[in-house]
Amino acid sequence: MNYKAPRGTHDIFGINALGLNVLEQKARQIFIKHGFEEVRTPIFEDASLFTRSIGEATDIVEKEMYIFEDRKGRKLALRPEGTASLVRAYIEHRLDVSFPSGKFFYSGEMFRYERPQAGRYRQFCQIGAEFYGSLSPSADAEIIMLACDVLSSIGIEKVNVHVNSLGCQKCRPLFRETLVKYFTSIDDLCQDCLRRLQTNPLRLLDCKIDSDKFINVPKMDDFLCDDCKEHFNLVQNLIRSVNCTYIVDPKLVRGLDYYTRTVFEIRSNALGAQDALAAGGRYDNLVKELGGQDTPVVGFALGSERVLMAAQHSGFFSTLNKNEKVFIAIADQDLISEAFAFSIKLIRNGLKGNNDISVFGPVDNKSLTAQLRFADKIGASKTIIFAKAELGEGKVLVKNMIDKTQNAVFIDQL
Ligand code: ATP
Ligand code: MG
Repeated sequence: MNYKAPRGTHDIFGINALGLNVLEQKARQIFIKHGFEEVRTPIFEDASLFTRSIGEATDIVEKEMYIFEDRKGRKLALRPEGTASLVRAYIEHRLDVSFPSGKFFYSGEMFRYERPQAGRYRQFCQIGAEFYGSLSPSADAEIIMLACDVLSSIGIEKVNVHVNSLGCQKCRPLFRETLVKYFTSIDDLCQDCLRRLQTNPLRLLDCKIDSDKFINVPKMDDFLCDDCKEHFNLVQNLIRSVNCTYIVDPKLVRGLDYYTRTVFEIRSNALGAQDALAAGGRYDNLVKELGGQDTPVVGFALGSERVLMAAQHSGFFSTLNKNEKVFIAIADQDLISEAFAFSIKLIRNGLKGNNDISVFGPVDNKSLTAQLRFADKIGASKTIIFAKAELGEGKVLVKNMIDKTQNAVFIDQL
């Protein structure tokens, strides 16, 4: 049998793995500057944690979760997103009591049973941050700016920031009711819309099939209570004050149930259908709903693979791994120990910050010609050849692999 990676998963090699690491590293630096602390939560949780927090009538819970039973019959799920786990951990460790204004971030693999396509996988990475305990619009603004700053740290500047307010428990019910009345009057709704009309009518707003039929659709903006309206205006003033260009998008509703007030999504023009790079918003009731003290939260998550796809156009990858490659060759097989000791010394020097080179070789049992061919194959710029005659004078041959010139150089001078 020929094994293949499971559908919707990928093996990530070389420069792409490096890109993922650098993205996570840059995000980490930015989060720490903003006073956020890292949290690592388990990759699986009780399945009901997600059902309860994300909502029964959402794509994730309805059809995208990887649920399994362990040997004791516990119903577990691979995490489809980071928020539920973080809130669970926040409550479990009683941070809602001891550290209500915590700022946390995470990164790692998420799992969703989706139809695989460009930018949509069954295992993918997210990087996210959450700000607990603040009702202030400045918390929303900080989260939106954090997401933008992480993107711009890898050269993604041309993005569309969509923002909307979904109101609160006071003002959303009337909007919801009005929407249901409105949508009920529309003929020929698609199957998804008909179903969601009963369970999650806000989701009809972002239906890609029926959207053309929705003319003069009610807007949340007209239903926001005074507090929500003021909050939303302040968020906009704050992000404008730090030069963020954005669009108020009444159709932005987001797929998860737990949002209140601010929601946002950052989209890229460089990608096709899967153009959402990052998304987030405020969830003021989630901690309480999951059993903690009443604590507001605002947060976001970005999809690392999609962000790196957008970074293909930003020049980010050409900044990665600039190390010069040097190959250590041996003209005589019995010089292996001198060559080996030299290569280790070169590497250790580099680790002390004395050079920016990656060292390959020596490889045993191959002719010098074969070794030089290999050096070319890995893109070495120089090959250092250990040969008996030169070594007798304390020298090695340094071959420039680009112009093919070669000089004998004292080892001490390298
Ligand atoms: P979409 O509308 O694309 O399905 P979503 O609303 O389900 O996205 P979120 O749950 O908000 O996405 O996740 C945040 C980000 O994670 C998305 O903006 C996207 O960049 C990324 N993401 C979500 N699902 C996937 C997936 N299956 N594969 C790769 N990246 C994903
Ligand atoms: Mg989705």
